[in-house]
Amino acid sequence: MGYKPDRGARGLPGGKPKYSIFSLARNAGSYHQDWQRAWRAPEPKAEYDAVIIGGGGHGLATAYYMAAVHGMTNIAVLEKGWLGGGNTGRNTTIIRSNYLWDESAAIYEHALKLWEGLAQDLNFNIMFSQRGVLTIAHSEHELREMSRRVHAIKLNGIDSDVLGPEEIKAFVPIINIDQSIRYPVMGGFLQKRGGTARHDAVAWGYARAADDLGVDIIQNCEVTGLRRNGDSIEGVETTRGFIKTPKVGCVVAGHCSVMAAMAGIRLPIASRPLQALVSEPIKPVLDTVIMSNAVHMYISQSDKGEMVLGAGVDKYNSYAQRGSFPTPEHMIAAGVELFPILSRLRMLRHWGGIVDTCPDASPIISRTDVKGLYFNCGWGTGGFKATPGSGHVFADLIAHDRPNKIAAPYSLDRFQTGLLIDEHGAAGVAH
Ligand SMILES: Cc1cc2nc3c(=O)[nH]c(=O)nc-3n(C[C@H](O)[C@H](O)[C@H](O)COP(=O)(O)OP(=O)(O)OC[C@H]3O[C@@H](n4cnc5c(N)ncnc54)[C@H](O)[C@@H]3O)c2cc1C
Repeated sequence: MGYKPDRGARGLPGGKPKYSIFSLARNAGSYHQDWQRAWRAPEPKAEYDAVIIGGGGHGLATAYYMAAVHGMTNIAVLEKGWLGGGNTGRNTTIIRSNYLWDESAAIYEHALKLWEGLAQDLNFNIMFSQRGVLTIAHSEHELREMSRRVHAIKLNGIDSDVLGPEEIKAFVPIINIDQSIRYPVMGGFLQKRGGTARHDAVAWGYARAADDLGVDIIQNCEVTGLRRNGDSIEGVETTRGFIKTPKVGCVVAGHCSVMAAMAGIRLPIASRPLQALVSEPIKPVLDTVIMSNAVHMYISQSDKGEMVLGAGVDKYNSYAQRGSFPTPEHMIAAGVELFPILSRLRMLRHWGGIVDTCPDASPIISRTDVKGLYFNCGWGTGGFKATPGSGHVFADLIAHDRPNKIAAPYSLDRFQTGLLIDEHGAAGVAH
């Protein structure tokens, strides 16, 4: 069942009581008054061995693996708001590893394998559900590109099956395969091991496990400056005072350019709003995830019964966590044709997050010219699925000050060497 990260001799469980059916029964007996806090709320120390900026899934996963795998426990995660309040808690939770390029397959499959054992590893129910992710094609051209992609995916040992319209209809009864609609369903490909996980639980699970190993998780603590001593990092200025540290990992997604500018670095990143919405809850009608790259729409049904719909990025750069109406309107118009059942539903909530996109739609996991300063960003519209893999390789990079084989292609120098990992060109969409 999945694989666990190599912990060496370290990473033994800390002192927290284990969540289990027995602890649930025991706490039910005391009306749930005796649950231990999932993580502490410590005051920041004056100095740490390393500081991670950003309490989203990637930052918390990084801190957890630094402690669990590399034995670095005198570290802090600094979050300006609340844990998971950024893109982690705003995303539509699609998890898959069926990317075109070898470098992408390596990192996303690494993450998927970690997902498969993550609930046990963290002792936290992250509600990981391998319900499958089906990507549909709407034209002959898309179908041809898809079959090329499926061959490449299979060569990397990743599961992928091509389905025709009738097979798709049998798999997803609510889909409309009438060929006269604007975006007819011509076929698709399915990754059965793909699916979803509960986003908040992922942040909370990593936070609890990291805290258990001694990591200080400090919320409401905004980093306002990066202090350098010549070519090395010296520490971080925060709203709760200066913190000295020789290593800083920046994992702030949509705000990574702002953070980089604090150290005088310019990143090849554009920050844009990405929107999603949920309908009122209904009975179960959809037990898989459907993606359409041409429409730029993806849909699944949450465990509560809400239909979860996501759109493409807005066409302009912004730091506002909301978007414009034309983008979801376009997605819903096509969605109603593809899933006529949607026309009867009312929208419940609608929101946006700020995604950090690189020109090649691949992330940055990298050292910088400032010694001790590292960036993990550029996950854009599709980084949730990478959370465990990203945290795992970034922790390794910070601990050893060199990228491992999976992380190496994602270094910043690819924008000088030209060795881009062009998933934009490959997939057109990177959710
Ligand atoms: C609407 C939407 C749908 C998406 N759908 C999917 C999907 O289906 N599948 C998928 O794989 N990905 C999806 N994504 C992308 C995914 O959400 C992100 O790539 C991923 O969650 C990034 O995680 P993170 O931990 O890097 O960032 P975040 O969760 O954004 O965490 C960064 C944290 O840094 C904090 N921060 C920022 N500046 C500072 C500062 N100065 N000091 C301290 N803290 C700071 C922020 O408050 C934030 O909590 C979607 C994104 C959105 C917005």
